[in-house]
Amino acid sequence: MYANVIIDISHERLDRTFQYEVPEELEGELCPGMQVYVPFGNGNRRRKGYVLELTCEAQWDPGRIKKLSGIASKGIAAEGTLVALACWLKEEYGCTMIQALHTVMPVRNRVGGNEKVYVRLTQEEQRLRAYEALCGKRHYTARLRLIDRLKACREGVEMRELTSQGIASSAVIRALAEQGIVSLTSRTAYRRPDIRLDPEYGKKKLNEEQRTAVENIWENREERPVSLLYGVTGSGKTEVYLELIQRTIALGQQAIVLIPEIAMTYQTLVRFYARFQDRVSVMNSRLSAGERYDQFERARKGEVQVMIGPRSALFAPFENLGLIIIDEEHEGAYKSEQMPRYHARDVALKRAQMCRAFVVLGSATPSVDSFWLAKNGVYQLVRLSHRAGSGRLPQVYVEDMRRELKEGNRSVFSRRLREQIEGCLGRGEQAMLFLNRRGYSGVLSCRSCGEAVKCPHCDVALTVHRQGDQRKLVCHYCGYTREAPSVCPACGSAYLSELRAGTQQIEALVKAEFPGARVLRMDMDTTKSKHDHEKILSAFGKGEADILVGTQMIVKGHDFKNVTLVGVMAADMSLYAGDYRSSERTFQLLTQAAGRAGRGELPGEVTIQTYQPEHYGIQTAAAQDYESFYERDIAYRRVMNYPPCGHMLAVLASCKDEGHLKEALEYLKKVALRICRNGEIQVIGPAPSSIYRVKDIYRRNLFLKGDSLDRLSAARRKLERYLEANPGFDSVQIQFDPDPMQ
Ligand code: ADP
Ligand code: ZN
Ligand code: ZN
Repeated sequence: MYANVIIDISHERLDRTFQYEVPEELEGELCPGMQVYVPFGNGNRRRKGYVLELTCEAQWDPGRIKKLSGIASKGIAAEGTLVALACWLKEEYGCTMIQALHTVMPVRNRVGGNEKVYVRLTQEEQRLRAYEALCGKRHYTARLRLIDRLKACREGVEMRELTSQGIASSAVIRALAEQGIVSLTSRTAYRRPDIRLDPEYGKKKLNEEQRTAVENIWENREERPVSLLYGVTGSGKTEVYLELIQRTIALGQQAIVLIPEIAMTYQTLVRFYARFQDRVSVMNSRLSAGERYDQFERARKGEVQVMIGPRSALFAPFENLGLIIIDEEHEGAYKSEQMPRYHARDVALKRAQMCRAFVVLGSATPSVDSFWLAKNGVYQLVRLSHRAGSGRLPQVYVEDMRRELKEGNRSVFSRRLREQIEGCLGRGEQAMLFLNRRGYSGVLSCRSCGEAVKCPHCDVALTVHRQGDQRKLVCHYCGYTREAPSVCPACGSAYLSELRAGTQQIEALVKAEFPGARVLRMDMDTTKSKHDHEKILSAFGKGEADILVGTQMIVKGHDFKNVTLVGVMAADMSLYAGDYRSSERTFQLLTQAAGRAGRGELPGEVTIQTYQPEHYGIQTAAAQDYESFYERDIAYRRVMNYPPCGHMLAVLASCKDEGHLKEALEYLKKVALRICRNGEIQVIGPAPSSIYRVKDIYRRNLFLKGDSLDRLSAARRKLERYLEANPGFDSVQIQFDPDPMQ
């Protein structure tokens, strides 16, 4: 018997299986997915690998096939569907097999140290007394002490407790075990995240709309396995999830719930724990390796039925997976930033299809992609249009910062927002000020008409690139470059500048303008260590500050009952992100920010400050009208052939040598043009990446645009073959990104 093994080294040239002979003693034991040691390369170094297949056919001369060394005892075996999923990832995203395997196995090694040994008396009274008498005679005081202690606790005491309290050494305990006086049993004690149950979160009786949603999804789960649950903020989507999970586990199946890490608040988790108690497990990036291992181990053994977590929870080793839920499905965090650059939504659909599970995508602001698929009947569209609990949607104002400027107000606060903050402070209520910097990189925009300087070909904002004293404007899709104009190309005004406010600056201005207010700031700088996040939020929740200033971190899912005012300082910044999703992102952020006001009994107000009040992303967000937004945005994408109407494949290249990178990409463009000669695929670029230089590595991108993803994948495979054969690309790192998010 032979094993086809993938070596655990990520290198394109090793991206194939190597064959090894299976030693006789391992023949019954070895299965596909297992981790093994094999001799590899010159000098036959011992390397780890994964068995992909077992076969009786030798690939070449059996006499020259090396013998597999053994099973890696600490390695966890990948389960069958996960190996199949890895194969699919490799094909779909153009990564190496080992990258794909690492992706589907976020937990790959056993982490020990959690095994507890319990010591228990085994003898009945009479024999024990005889033994004690014997020990007494021989002055075995440790043994007597031990027996005394165990008598008081018949169900057993942990070994470590006995040794650490100095009752008996482990040698003594083992001696007694050998004589049959005590027994030793090991039990695995799982490390669990510490969550207290809150009885306040009882089971809610579903309202009419929720019940209809549950029935529609549940009844149709076989014919329509993917549903998009489009429910306004506060409409009770979580209750719908809970009900569907309950039904799924009642059938003996398991469920995975994906939540973006940033939205995985204590409040959310408590609701799941209250409903399912010990049957729930939670993954997040703050767990230690041991904790992560335990959570997956419990899933493997069938001890938990629900796994909650960010992207990696998708690969929980459940045997009979019935349901995958993706909450806040529009979130950018679901797209991986490393190879394979997969989107959790696509992988979830694939895994679900493999094990005949059904999928629920939930959002108050669905991604344009998902809504398009739902509108076209690919997903089942299920709506929740009313708020379920208390709280009404807030009153939203749009403040035109161009007019403020014209009328002599040069402050970062519009007159309305300043009045609102004063009112809010006066009433003892709380305010959140949100600075929208997501995906933002320097853009020239006009303070008079609000327009950003755009690419004439791609209809996205150009971004500022500096080289020495020179300032150039560059398009990140096609590479179009121009001098920075001195007056606005749209209206001729000279008020053309880069928006450049930071949270720190806003915080200082707030403190200066409202001296009595207690201010907290939350951004990347103030949340560097593990618990900063919670500390700031809980301090604000307890009313220890009046105003919370922050980036998008503050707008996700938090429920502060005393917040009655949300101010969006510069709504435009995310509109200028320089890619085709910038309107979508703006709409989502503004809607979420608005959703933070008026969660309790008190009515809420929201003020959006902008230089482009007429932009549809801002207008529709202010009106809380997702469908109008969608219609406008999909029209734009249709005209420009952007996803989901068309598809894109980004070729992301990076290299230490700027000149070499430039040259290499010009070559690659020629190759791409040759491959795509029939005109079904457009080749755009190359252009510098939005962040051109990171740690002295330069980055440039090429884009392929076409109608079908399959055709783009075929082109990608041809490019891969070219790259592999061409040593000129050895120093250039290339990643492929289908339908890029940024
Ligand atoms: P979403 O996830 O859609 O924003 P949630 O599930 O968080 O909404 O629900 C919003 C609020 O409404 C929560 O406080 C929740 O407890 C409450 N709620 C949800 N469903 C019901 C119901 N059927 N009856 C009463 N309150 C409900
Ligand atoms: Zn202008
Ligand atoms: Zn362009």
